[in-house]
Amino acid sequence: MSRLKTWLTAALLAGPAISEPLACPGPGPTITVTAGTTDHAVHLCSVARAARSRLAACHMPQIAPIDIRIVTELPAQHAKCMGLYHCDTEIIEILDLAGLRRSVSPSSAFARIPPEALQDSLVAHEMVHALIHQRLGADSGPPVQNEYIAYAMQLDLMSDPARQALLAARDITAPIPPEGLNEIILLMAPDVFAIFSWHHFRQEGHGCTLIGKLLDGAPGPFPNISP
Ligand SMILES: [Zn+2]
Repeated sequence: MSRLKTWLTAALLAGPAISEPLACPGPGPTITVTAGTTDHAVHLCSVARAARSRLAACHMPQIAPIDIRIVTELPAQHAKCMGLYHCDTEIIEILDLAGLRRSVSPSSAFARIPPEALQDSLVAHEMVHALIHQRLGADSGPPVQNEYIAYAMQLDLMSDPARQALLAARDITAPIPPEGLNEIILLMAPDVFAIFSWHHFRQEGHGCTLIGKLLDGAPGPFPNISP
């Protein structure tokens, strides 16, 4: 009884609930999640584990620890982002649900899916960046190539209803001409770039075969990329 009372007092004094970093159970290199509550961290562990399996089968095995943190805001210079992979500290930061509601423009296709599903999908997106960095280090290829792979896998790992809701926001159909996968669209309309990437990824002869070639250094379909 007294222990329960102590716990309740501690909980009341703690303010906004922030869980301790949770080491996701299971085999393989460590995945650590820090979220608003332990239940949410447990959920995100299962999301991250599912993403890890899919990405490993797509030439992106996890070979070092992954650290995922749900945050209320991102650094000011990345205020337009929904998530971030810091290649210097190797930490993934993803906005909490309030942050996503605040930052996603109503005109974006990403506004068509519930923030919970969007947040789960961002785990996959940022894990792609982390795993490419783990595999290739600092020389991890042009940004447009990294974002192509990240968005393709983000949509690939979405539930069908979430993906269909997102795709329905834009009148875009396959095949996607390679010219569509360019940095201007990536910067100006990332939701369009995301849909282009997924359709392109799904086209015959592309998929994980293409991703494997890109990560081996083959030239990609991307026009006018920065070196
Ligand atoms: Zn990205």
